Amino acid sequence: MHQIYRCQYLNHSDQEIIGICLNPSCKQTRQYCYKCLMDNQLHQNCRNNFQKINQIEEVIQTKLNYLEYLQYQLSQKLKVLEKAWLNWMTELQQEQAKIVKILESLKNHNFFLLKQNLPSVIQFFLSLQNDNNHNKFQKGLRLAKSCDLLNAIKIFDEILKNDEKYPDCYYQKGLALMKIDKKRQDYLQKSVECFRKAIEMNKFHFDAYKNQGICLFQLEQYDQALKCFTSAITYGIYDKECLLYKAKILQKKDENFEACNILDKIINQDSQDLEPYFYKGVYLIQVEVYPYIIQKSMIRHRDVLIKLLVLIQIMFKHISYRVICCLSQKNQMMLEITLIR
Ligand SMILES: [Zn+2]
Ligand SMILES: [Zn+2]
Repeated sequence: MHQIYRCQYLNHSDQEIIGICLNPSCKQTRQYCYKCLMDNQLHQNCRNNFQKINQIEEVIQTKLNYLEYLQYQLSQKLKVLEKAWLNWMTELQQEQAKIVKILESLKNHNFFLLKQNLPSVIQFFLSLQNDNNHNKFQKGLRLAKSCDLLNAIKIFDEILKNDEKYPDCYYQKGLALMKIDKKRQDYLQKSVECFRKAIEMNKFHFDAYKNQGICLFQLEQYDQALKCFTSAITYGIYDKECLLYKAKILQKKDENFEACNILDKIINQDSQDLEPYFYKGVYLIQVEVYPYIIQKSMIRHRDVLIKLLVLIQIMFKHISYRVICCLSQKNQMMLEITLIR
């Protein structure tokens, strides 16, 4: 250890190291002593990058302090945000309860109750007179919900003309576009663009990542879609649809081992869910091993199973299947699908 604190140069061995050369392209011994400092032949082009040990220490300590400061700030911010978020949620719930009540009083022709809430109704209508983006957005949402997608998109476009920085508006427009017709490439492509803008403005937009992935999947741009699902999954929110899509893409890319790992993750969450078994089965059929699901769950999920079998038939048109249900020995979910070529 002491070795390093003594200069390595000939005739400098009695000298203590006082600093380090931090020139990135320096090829000489990095540490220097007082004699090195005096010798013009050594570190000729490095003098500006000479740093004393205590200076380096100071700079690093400063950085450390700054990191501690940032962490403190971040944890404080989290507390404030958490509190504000909870308050906001409570406010929304209170408003919702009030509006539900008003709506009920209208439906039941309970005008006494309606009269009691009249100040809120008046307030509500006053706020609607304002032709702002917020009101327009609400209208767009309502139209989209009632499947009047083209008119919803018109409204979203109007909003975006006034305010280009409205991530949720892009997101909703994207959703509406993809709902019009899942087979229309031009709509899907436009949706992808909308979701991209939403993510650009709000990189925590989990749903935008997910739906962008779904559009890209429909467009058969599997590598791009995979990136979206992977980004969405990194947020740590369990979302079966996201995982399932990722598994399907991996299967298409012949990365079956990883795909099965993902399907197992879904099965671990809910062992009664038949869909992951189905996709695992699709792979297993491909390698001519038989997928299994227990008879008990067969009875319980008869309708789902029939759908699955139809799906299997669609996917493997050239093969016909005879399905034999049987109980498994290991009490696992089992369905034996026998191949008949
Ligand atoms: Zn030296
Ligand atoms: Zn140097």
